[in-house]
Amino acid sequence: MTVLINGKLISQQVIDKTAEEVTAFDERFGLAPGLAVVLVGEDPASQVYVRNKVKRAEEVGIRSLEYKLPADSSQAMLNDLIQTLNADPSVHGILVQLPLPNHLNEEEVLLDIDPAKDVDGFHPLNVGALACGEASLVPCTPMGCMIMLEHVHQDLSGKRAVVIGRSNIVGKPMAALLLQANCTVTIVHSRTKDIESICSQADIVVAAIGRPEMVKASWIKPGATVIDVGINAIERDGKRKLVGDVDFADVEPVTSAITPVPGGVGPMTIACLMKNTVQAALDQELKRQAFLAQ
Ligand code: NAP
Repeated sequence: MTVLINGKLISQQVIDKTAEEVTAFDERFGLAPGLAVVLVGEDPASQVYVRNKVKRAEEVGIRSLEYKLPADSSQAMLNDLIQTLNADPSVHGILVQLPLPNHLNEEEVLLDIDPAKDVDGFHPLNVGALACGEASLVPCTPMGCMIMLEHVHQDLSGKRAVVIGRSNIVGKPMAALLLQANCTVTIVHSRTKDIESICSQADIVVAAIGRPEMVKASWIKPGATVIDVGINAIERDGKRKLVGDVDFADVEPVTSAITPVPGGVGPMTIACLMKNTVQAALDQELKRQAFLAQ
């Protein structure tokens, strides 16, 4: 029988553990971890994401600081704010909600954030550390996928994994984490020839494509585990619905374990952001203590 990998349940476990770590951190260092969330403009989806992040932070006891800048803010204004947050020792994590308005350069913004406070794990130094297998701050969505995989596989070593998609925020870090867990990893993308046959050899398939229900049962080896990162809003029977990149009804019977959409990877991402914030806070405070002890 197929195991439905329950993101709501697993993310709650991550949240509960993180809340305990926040309490322990507070007792040890005399302040709660601080997370600054920066929103530029009024994109409705971004506003919802920011609200959810702030709500989750409050739930676990993280001090959340919200900064809302107007849509016509300049690169210099955003940079000034980031430099202020970089210099503030009570701010341990900085998150700039993407996408930014078109006139702003996202890469430059990611470079401005102190890598030690980069709780999204997008700064090139953190990306490089991940490639070397030494990352402390790992991008939240792939981290969430790994936690889900560890729930159904005690050992991922030697498994064949295929990641569909090569974005910097999901596909590439996902592949790096699977490699670190000793999987044999293949990344496929829009230029790959015969994706179906490559996927059908995999023990683990992670779909991060942004194409509704693209992955079909014929792509999946019987008994494989499927992680569906996709979140796509579609209209069906006159109703708006969220679906993944995997055709769940078609694929589920073939798998040994699969994530649903919604209620799969989605809730894991925010939970891992909280986990990263505590990790960043701990790294910074320990470094500060070591410096003061010199
Ligand atoms: P992205 O930046 O658009 O990347 C999509 C990747 O899929 C690209 O590498 C692209 O290949 C590949 N691709 C597109 N069409 C393809 C096709 N027909 N065949 C094979 N590969 C194809 O997207 P993303 O940011 O990684 O996000 C992927 C999905 O995950 C989206 O649905 C997004 O909403 C969702 N997401 C969910 C969460 C969450 O918390 N659950 C977080 C982040 C993203 P090329 O590189 O060749 O163009």
